[in-house]
Formats: sequence, structure tokens, C-alpha cells
Amino acid sequence: MALWHERAEALKIDGRAFIGGRRVWAQSEQQFEDISPVDGRRLGMVARCGAQDVDAAVAAARAAFEDRRWAGMPPASRKRTLIKFAELMMKHGEELALLETLDMGKPIKYSQSIDVPLAANCIRWYGEAIDKVYGEIAPTGDSSLALITREPVGVVAAIVPWNYPMLMAAWKIGPALAAGNSLVLKPSEKSPLTALRLAEIAMEAGLPDGVFNVVPGYGNEAGSALGMHMDVDAIGFTGSTRTGKLILQMAGQSNLKRAWTELGGKSANIVCADCPDLDAAVSAAVGSIYFNQGESCNAPSRLFVEESIREEFLEKALALIPRYAPGDPLDEATIMGAIVDETQMKTVMSYIQAGKDGGATVLAGGEAARLGSGGYYVAPTLFDKVDNSMKIAQEEIFGPVLSVLSFTDVNEAVKQANATPYGLAAGLWTSDISKAIKVSRALRAGTVHVNQYDSDDITVPFGGYKQSGNGRDKSLHAFDKYTELKTTWIQI
Ligand code: NAD
Repeated sequence: MALWHERAEALKIDGRAFIGGRRVWAQSEQQFEDISPVDGRRLGMVARCGAQDVDAAVAAARAAFEDRRWAGMPPASRKRTLIKFAELMMKHGEELALLETLDMGKPIKYSQSIDVPLAANCIRWYGEAIDKVYGEIAPTGDSSLALITREPVGVVAAIVPWNYPMLMAAWKIGPALAAGNSLVLKPSEKSPLTALRLAEIAMEAGLPDGVFNVVPGYGNEAGSALGMHMDVDAIGFTGSTRTGKLILQMAGQSNLKRAWTELGGKSANIVCADCPDLDAAVSAAVGSIYFNQGESCNAPSRLFVEESIREEFLEKALALIPRYAPGDPLDEATIMGAIVDETQMKTVMSYIQAGKDGGATVLAGGEAARLGSGGYYVAPTLFDKVDNSMKIAQEEIFGPVLSVLSFTDVNEAVKQANATPYGLAAGLWTSDISKAIKVSRALRAGTVHVNQYDSDDITVPFGGYKQSGNGRDKSLHAFDKYTELKTTWIQI
């Protein structure tokens, strides 16, 4: 633990934007404070980019796109550059992990073992895909040839949230750059530091100037300037459903840029009495909601347990929960860290109050934790006797709060699982293969986990139904968003 604290002390924070291959302050010279949720300490000052800086970043991206300094490079060279980028991310892994933990509060154990390697693997995977995605020839007959090719969209904007700052950025950077686009990335004002370092590391790997720009700043300033920009061809957004709706409106009000969204969730996890391994189900249910302090879009925040096993399930869950007591995020033994900031902590606490006021029973937590630390911590909380109509069962809390509901008929559980505005992920535990297939078909969610939760791989798409968004990140399917399909007819 002392080691990471020493490293944190020695860390140099550079909050300048990254535009056209250079570190620059905002043209207005405005800055904002970056506060660490670990202990409330100021990490440094960050450029508060506005419309002028967004204009400069988009112009740099456009110039790089127009002169084809990236898209025009031989595919093998682009592939080598992205693979080098991934390797350098791993080389700078300790620094990136530390920045991530200090900036948003997640345990160093996980930023090192999960966020850095998954983000680097994403960049590598899309790099490797560069020379493996082919065009097509349509069957148009002897007298003509119709080629269907994929071209980069042009200047792509990406706006990302604070809960997995580096990984959510990588999910956009990988396919955007692999497809030959130029990129302007806006990280969350709550966690801008790793995105800024990633741009420098990409340059170190040989990415040409202007291809990858980062404009830190507030959503209603830098973010909306990107959303409304007339020279941005596409915008990929990850964040809340509220902001996602604004992004789609901005795209429509400006130049009809292609826009897609990856949004919030209120995922249901259904555990049937014929669950093949109750201990595994308990451990996944508890582990997945408290992982990342509950600040995961796909967190299984509603747990539906079949009434006949409810007591046994709760007993086992309550025995596990103390392991998730929040600790110092810089201690390698800690598995639950700090909530991203004071505002988010107040939001989580207000939901806990709403749960109590609404008549749910607190069986664990229900209060703030690590009060003397200067940081923002909430105890892992479990509510029993929750009704699906309660506020805590309908709204995304984005904190370590699990709501337990029980059922006697699995069809009724499915109906309730689907009865929220969201549709990001879902879980089901059963030994009955027919039930598994029937229920996973009936669940209106982009990902369904059967007899596990939280498996993740770059090869599979990730995204939501309903108000959880209209896009898909990861996998080759993501390329669709970052490429234009062109048909070329040739007379023979
Ligand atoms: P948020 O919507 O408040 O902010 C997300 C990003 O949008 C930030 O960079 C922010 O600065 C920017 N922004 C805010 N207002 C804007 C505006 N008016 N115009 C343009 N940009 C604006 O969300 P958040 O609190 O940062 O993130 C948490 C949310 O993200 C949760 O709802 C979570 O479920 C969701 N999320 C979804 C996925 C997914 O893949 N579906 C992944 C991670 C997080």
C-alpha cells in the first residue's frame, strides 16, 4: 500500500488538452480542478475546453483525414501502429492504473489487472482486424461489377463516462482508428486523466498528429460543442440515458451526423430454485453488483430469487458482503473503492433513503463508510422486500446497492425484469435447458448471462435494448458504426 501512495506522490499530472499532436491549455485559459475521490485531494488542474478548442480539435482531425496521413497508410503499417500502441499501454500500465484509481476511485488491484489489460487488448484486437475485414462483390451479372467497400466515416467524436474511463474510451478508439477515421475524444470531467495519457501514448506508437485528439471539459461546453459541430461526421456516446437523448437531438439539429448511444441500465438477475450451483449464483450476484462500487452500467442491481430458496440465498449473501467493505483504493487488498465524487455519493445516499422511505428492508449497509478518509465511500448495501414499482427498483442508482425481489413463477419474474425503461443486461440461473432458452429469448436485454454473470470478451457486442441505447460497442459489429458502405458500379 505504501508503495502505491509513494508512486501517487511522485506522479506528474498534466491536465492540458491534446490537439493536433500537442499538449495545449484551453484557448480561454480556463481550467477546472480534478479532485481525487480516494481522499478528496486535488490532483491537479485540467483544461476546460470550450467551443473554440473543439473547433481546433475538429480542424486538426479533419486535416489529418483529408490528407490521408492515417487512412492512406498501408494497412500493415496501421496495424503495426495500433499493436505498438497496445504494447505501450501495457508498458505504461502502472502509471495508467494509478491515474485511473486516483481519478475515479476504483481499487488499484482492478485498474491494474482489469482496466489496463482489457483496454490494451481492445486496441490490439482492432489493430489486428485492420487487414482482416474485406469488401464484397455483389452478384450483378456478366455486364457489370458492383463492389461494396467500407470507407472511414471521417471525423468521429467520442464522448465517454467516468466509470471505466480508459476502457470505455478504448471501445471507441479501437474501431474508430482501425477503420481509418480521425478522432476527437471527450472524457468525463470527473476522470479525464487516462484519456489524455492515451493520446500521448498513441503518438509514441507512431500515430500521426491530428488523428487522435482529446478535449477535456464539461458536458454542456465541450460535449455539446461536439454534438452540435457541423464538421463532425459521426458521434459515439456512452453515458446516461438523459444525456444520450440530448446527443441524438443535437445530431438531428446540426448536420445529421451519424449518432449512436450506449446508456444506463437496471439489469435483472433471476435465480431459480433449480439453479445448478447456489454458491456460484450468490457469489456472482454479490460480486457483480459491488464490483466497481456498483458503478457499472450492466450491474445486476435487481435480484429476483425464487421464494423457496430466498432465505438460504440471503443467508449466504449476507455472509459474503463484509468482504466488500470499502477500503483504501491504493491498497492492493481492497476490492471495493471510492464513489467517483461527492455529487454521486449524495445521489447514491438519496436512493438509499428512498429505499428506506419506500418500505424496503436494509439487511446490509445503508450508510456512508470510511468517514475520516476525506474521500467518498458507501457501504455495500442490500435491500430486501423490494417491490418492482419502487424507485430503487426502477431507476439506475449507479452505486453499491442491491435490491432483492422474490418470485414463485418464472414467467412473472421475466415480466417484471422487462418492466423498466432499460434493457442492457440480464442474468438467469437454472439447470433446465428449455427454461434457459425460453427465458433468455423473453428477456429484453442486449446481453443475457446464463449460469454466470459479467463474462466479457472483445469478440462479442455490448449494448442495450430500449432506453439503454441504440448502438453496439466491441466485436466486428462495431465497425459498422465507424465505416461508410460504398457501392461502386463498373461497366464491363
Ligand atoms: P453522463 O451522461 O452524465 O456523462 C457522460 C459524458 O457525457 C461525459 O463525458 C459528460 O461530460 C458528457 N455530457 C454531459 N452532458 C452533456 C451534454 N449536454 N452534451 C454533451 N455531452 C454531455 O453520464 P456519466 O454520469 O458520466 O456516466 C454514467 C452513465 O453511463 C450511467 O448511466 C451508465 O449506465 C452509463 N454507461 C453506459 C455504458 C454502456 O456501454 N451502455 C457503459 C458505461 C456507462
